Amino acid sequence: MSSGGEIFAVVEQVAGLIKPVSYEVMHAARTLADQTGGQVTAVYLGNAPKEEVDSTSLLQYGADRVLILRHPELVHYISLPYIEALLSEIELRKPDVVLLPATIHGKELAAALSAKLKTGLATDCISLEVDADMGLKIQRPVNAGKAVSTLVFNSSIPKIVTLRPNVFRGPGPDASRSGEVEEVEAKIPKESLLVKIKEVAKATGKQLDITEARIVVSGGLGMQSAENFQLLEELAQVLGGAVGASRPVVDDGWRNYSNQVGQTGRTVSPDLYIACGISGAVQHLAGMSSSKCIVAINKDPNAAIFTVADYGIVGDVLEVVPLLTQEFRKLLNS
Ligand SMILES: Cc1cc2nc3c(=O)[nH]c(=O)nc-3n(C[C@H](O)[C@H](O)[C@H](O)COP(=O)(O)OP(=O)(O)OC[C@H]3O[C@@H](n4cnc5c(N)ncnc54)[C@H](O)[C@@H]3O)c2cc1C
Repeated sequence: MSSGGEIFAVVEQVAGLIKPVSYEVMHAARTLADQTGGQVTAVYLGNAPKEEVDSTSLLQYGADRVLILRHPELVHYISLPYIEALLSEIELRKPDVVLLPATIHGKELAAALSAKLKTGLATDCISLEVDADMGLKIQRPVNAGKAVSTLVFNSSIPKIVTLRPNVFRGPGPDASRSGEVEEVEAKIPKESLLVKIKEVAKATGKQLDITEARIVVSGGLGMQSAENFQLLEELAQVLGGAVGASRPVVDDGWRNYSNQVGQTGRTVSPDLYIACGISGAVQHLAGMSSSKCIVAINKDPNAAIFTVADYGIVGDVLEVVPLLTQEFRKLLNS
């Protein structure tokens, strides 16, 4: 890492609203910049004028400046325009590091940028620091979460890193922070404007993204039917969490793919993960074992999920879950 180098922290927005995971990226970038004496640039892509972008929050969460890349084709995430807009700014400003959230969009952008810039990429990082030789040292889970690999980038720039959501939460906004906000027209070649989004249909109901939720209540085949997931919806609602699922549950059409936790689904790191009727196959553990507290409910005392659980309840989910919901409701209402 060069001392005083610039760090790009890429912001994710939906309908102009900054996604909470972006503040984790700001916090990680700030922590890194404090070690190198560098500057954090929050990079916001969209088409809103700067008066409409919540730059204040980005500055308060750690950015030194906000760069708004504006273009009508950046209103919604479409890979090619987003890649080209970021690419031209990276080539122009030559940041030392580009940090993105390890979300579906962040992962796609990071891979494409790394390929186009022929530079190093580390994905799904859970720790990030500058070592004694000023190298950027990162840690990331490997082998379905069974081990953690440590790696150091070589001197090529930029170093591209995606950060696992819910791992880099900071202390919150610092109201004393401020900085400049710059708005530029994004440079997107015409040949990259191949797709146009005509309409965005919102999913019905209020669904929390499982990768960002602080509490995830997940169900497996032990829930026995799609209808029984209503019990998990109720528990999640009382706790303010999201509902996840194991893969066979998704394969059977009981839940959407966006709910799937695991190796071929989403990776979650909530404060609390409640696994209901999930056996704990290694492919499932790959997506949730970094959760801060794991509670497992299973009728089989030898289920593998108990090996990673902080608390285990041996019992029938259809009996235990309603009791938990009832007790949490009482507790949280009192
Ligand atoms: C390449 C590959 C990728 C995969 N990716 C994923 C992935 O991303 N995510 C994923 O989840 N899986 C994935 N799998 C599948 C994985 O191997 C397991 O098959 C799957 O996780 C099992 O799901 P389950 O725990 O819901 O079901 P099961 O293994 O059938 O377990 C059901 C559990 O419920 C318990 N149970 C039953 N009834 C009750 C009850 N009434 N009360 C309490 N407990 C009860 C049982 O004791 C059992 O432990 C993948 C597999 C492969 C080969």
